[in-house]
Amino acid sequence: MELESILLPGVSEQRPLIIAGPCSAETEEQVMTTAKELAGKGIKIYRAGIWKPRTKPGGFEGVGKEGLAWLNRVKRETGMYVSTEVATRAHVQDAVAAGLDLLWIGARTSANPFAMQEIADALKETGFQGPVLIKNPVNPDLDLWIGAIERVYNAGIRKIGVIHRGFSSYDKKLYRNLPQWHIPIELKRRLPHIPIFGDPSHIGGKRELVAPLSQQALDLNYEGLIIESHCNPDAAWSDKDQQVTPDVLSYILNTLVVRDTKQTTESLNELRQQIDEIDDSLLSTLAKRMRISREIGQYKKEHNMPVLQTSRYDEILDKRSQQAIEVGVDANFIKTVFEAIHEESIRQQIDVLNQ
Ligand code: PEP
Ligand code: MN
Repeated sequence: MELESILLPGVSEQRPLIIAGPCSAETEEQVMTTAKELAGKGIKIYRAGIWKPRTKPGGFEGVGKEGLAWLNRVKRETGMYVSTEVATRAHVQDAVAAGLDLLWIGARTSANPFAMQEIADALKETGFQGPVLIKNPVNPDLDLWIGAIERVYNAGIRKIGVIHRGFSSYDKKLYRNLPQWHIPIELKRRLPHIPIFGDPSHIGGKRELVAPLSQQALDLNYEGLIIESHCNPDAAWSDKDQQVTPDVLSYILNTLVVRDTKQTTESLNELRQQIDEIDDSLLSTLAKRMRISREIGQYKKEHNMPVLQTSRYDEILDKRSQQAIEVGVDANFIKTVFEAIHEESIRQQIDVLNQ
């Protein structure tokens, strides 16, 4: 993918790039008050949901088109760029006609290829150049996320970014949406040039988690953060538990540590060399183990024995988990490693059996 920078003129390239504003535009007064306070704190890109995808009917579903005029006023009076979520062709047409600067696609929409294609077509028809930010789909499916990105890319948009807002789960004890950090990390590996925004508000679902989740995103080298901020969070019409005032937002942003030193020191290089050597030996040990597994497979084949012997499997897992504790390594981690190794051994032995 040949992407272009999503940076808007006049916005600093320093990490993190911040998008902030209320979950929803509620009234013209709430939109303007929040916007002025945020602009006063140096925020350059304003967010507000105009159309709100709600889990159940009857909730506040957004003010609709009327709110676009308020965002336009924010743009004129504060100089901030303005952004909103689009979920249908009509949303794209209205938002682009109202002069919005940045559009994002929500998590329920990016999970639906038909909706994504409709939005991609609408973007193409309007000639909107981006930036377009695509939230991860509600379900933890990396290919679905990449598919959504590709649809927007194929519509000719080159200013594309993504938002990591976490993944739905039944258990909402700690997080509202599980972060599953390995998924955005793998996305970054596959699409290294795509800028990624952390959305601590929707991952955490509560104010106290905004700061630690923002820091975690920065430590993973995310380019930006999108954070919900409301002039009076307790009175918000949607997502009130996770919104922070512009004052609190500014305080949080000041506490964040940006670790951007890329220069590596001698001692780090030495440690990395040791890691490389250990990885080499792990790899050749695993290869050797698999060759022996195949020999066992051959024996089992000749003696008409079944490949999987559960008692042996249990013995390996128990013994290694116990040893892990003794050598100070996490027992669950070792269990996962040996489960994977055993699974591959079984696959090798079945392969021998079928030869
Ligand atoms: C939002 O950003 O307010 C929103 C609805 O988010 P999500 O699509 O992540 O649920
Ligand atoms: Mn929200």
